[in-house]
Amino acid sequence: MSHALHEPILDWYSAHHRDLPWRTADASAWGVLVSEFMLQQTPVARVLPVYETWLTRWPTPAALAADEPGEAVRSWGRLGYPRRALRLHGAATAIVDRHEGEVPSGHEDLLALPGVGEYTAAAVASFAFRQRHIVLDTNVRRVIGRTIDAVEYPPQATTPAERRTATTLLPTDADTAATWAVAIMELGALVCTAKSPRCVGCPVAALCAWRLAGKPAYEGPARRGQTYAGTDRQVRGKLLAVLRDHEGPVSQAELDAVWPEPVQRARALDGLVADGLVEPIAAGVYRLPGRRPS
Ligand code: SF4
Repeated sequence: MSHALHEPILDWYSAHHRDLPWRTADASAWGVLVSEFMLQQTPVARVLPVYETWLTRWPTPAALAADEPGEAVRSWGRLGYPRRALRLHGAATAIVDRHEGEVPSGHEDLLALPGVGEYTAAAVASFAFRQRHIVLDTNVRRVIGRTIDAVEYPPQATTPAERRTATTLLPTDADTAATWAVAIMELGALVCTAKSPRCVGCPVAALCAWRLAGKPAYEGPARRGQTYAGTDRQVRGKLLAVLRDHEGPVSQAELDAVWPEPVQRARALDGLVADGLVEPIAAGVYRLPGRRPS
């Protein structure tokens, strides 16, 4: 099955895609999995250096699984949402335990790994193993919303209707479907961006329902903002940075120094402990998480 959007988007991708290390022919399935964890909530430019460091230090799931979870958190650096580091460590451990250290190729096996949801399982099966899956991230959903449904932004959460449309759009041949998945994602990242789509020069401008309808304004519920300053998330980031920057344990006083407001600071620290990102080892002494007894 071919759709009118296929050829222009696949041709555009072939000429204009970025050479990202997790997309090269010699990228391992482990590299693809690591990149997908990192890219979930962090832009490519910030991911690149951490990805390189990470893959150099832990070139296989077994290498990461053999290290302490706290080292994963330390190496996560400032990518944000550091629970992803713990989940990636958990996924590496499960890959060693269940799959002899090889990232599984089956969608169900991928989905069963800690921290791997529907999107990540489909992305890894498609990008690393060239299988045919719908891979719906925010970029893809936006391009489909505009080109097919004539809306500026897709709904806040993925709907069954979006899945049906994405399935209809998926090329029949698995290898083409895998390229299609990354090509439409790249178009959303580079051309059909959220705030300023570059419709002039877009390969599907002549086919785009939203553009042809005169770009009607978005009418859905208010879209989530990205406030950060003053939030508990910011405090958590500051506290965790103290622990990352110390080789050994840190004292309460060292943590207290980075945020003046005691109630919010205590709440943020409690949250980090509850999430397993920080381990209290004595009264007022903390460290990054060590290995759990098996
Ligand atoms: S024409 Fe504009 S809105 Fe439509 S897909 Fe291209 S960049 Fe996006």
